[in-house]
Amino acid sequence: MIVAMQESASEEQIQQVIARLVEMGFEVHRSTGARQTVLGAVGARADFDVRDIEVLSGVGEVHRISAPYKLSGRSFKPDGTVIKFPNGLRVGGNEIVIMAGPCSVESREQLFTVAEQVATAGARVLRGGAFKPRSSPYSFQGMGQQGLEILREAGDKFKLLVISEVMEISQIQLMMPYIDIFQVGARNMQNFNLLRELGKVRKPVLLKRGIAATFEELLLSAEYIMAGGNYEVILCERGIRTFETYTRNTMDISAIPIIKKLSHLPMTADPSHGTGRRDKVPPMGRAAVAAGADALLIEVHHCPDKALSDGAQSLYPEQFTRLMQELRMIAPAVGRSIA
Ligand code: PEP
Ligand code: MN
Repeated sequence: MIVAMQESASEEQIQQVIARLVEMGFEVHRSTGARQTVLGAVGARADFDVRDIEVLSGVGEVHRISAPYKLSGRSFKPDGTVIKFPNGLRVGGNEIVIMAGPCSVESREQLFTVAEQVATAGARVLRGGAFKPRSSPYSFQGMGQQGLEILREAGDKFKLLVISEVMEISQIQLMMPYIDIFQVGARNMQNFNLLRELGKVRKPVLLKRGIAATFEELLLSAEYIMAGGNYEVILCERGIRTFETYTRNTMDISAIPIIKKLSHLPMTADPSHGTGRRDKVPPMGRAAVAAGADALLIEVHHCPDKALSDGAQSLYPEQFTRLMQELRMIAPAVGRSIA
């Protein structure tokens, strides 16, 4: 941390700041110029709050020079993390992984129909919510365990891995036998108790960015999972809340290169929730691949007009097939391929 004292700071104020930094565990290096004193503070824990220093009298500016997250930061694994699944699929490598399926598992017939369609088009992971975080308590809340059973069966039949959202701690053990990847939704990105429990399991977790979360907050949430020993975290940009109302959320494509710089974890983009409109999903999916995403998470429904959740943003199967063809052309242009 660099602490630049105000030009008017007295020697007493400087000494008070040094004393506080030492108390916090920092080693302090003082540099006194003709007009201003600058303190370089090194070596304390990562979780200090710069405001504790900013508010001291005589302090001008404070700059953090090390990130508050360690395990999720790029320097922990400069070459990047590749998550390997038993079937050979890798997330975070050169090949981009497409995850697709309906927002919710609604019935056996629905899921098997969509699973076959997305598998044929080239998806490698089947998505489908069994526990749904709906804004209204009166909306469809998901099929629960029955939905997980259907998801697993469909995944096995069409040789797809499966991903589904976990909303609370009590669902973790229930879900373990059915799923390959736990999804933590935007609403739960800062459910720290849930994240801590997911740190104890040995299954990959796809962590979505909250609707108003900063990159630092996303990486600190990943840190919660990793601090428990589960290093298999996949991050996901799914759109943030802005003043714009045309789209459901604002798809932040810049999150992809930014997170890839700040973190070694694989980065996914979810243009379905990012836009909320199916006509905008393919262009944002294409942009995400061009911007460096390691995976895409896309909602597809065989009959979106009848979907029990997120129909307006679900692609028709033909649209998904076309998008896959486009992605196969875009990926090589950025030195990648589609898994
Ligand atoms: C979903 O994937 O269907 C979902 C609810 O996602 P999010 O948490 O991004 O809203
Ligand atoms: Mn959805």
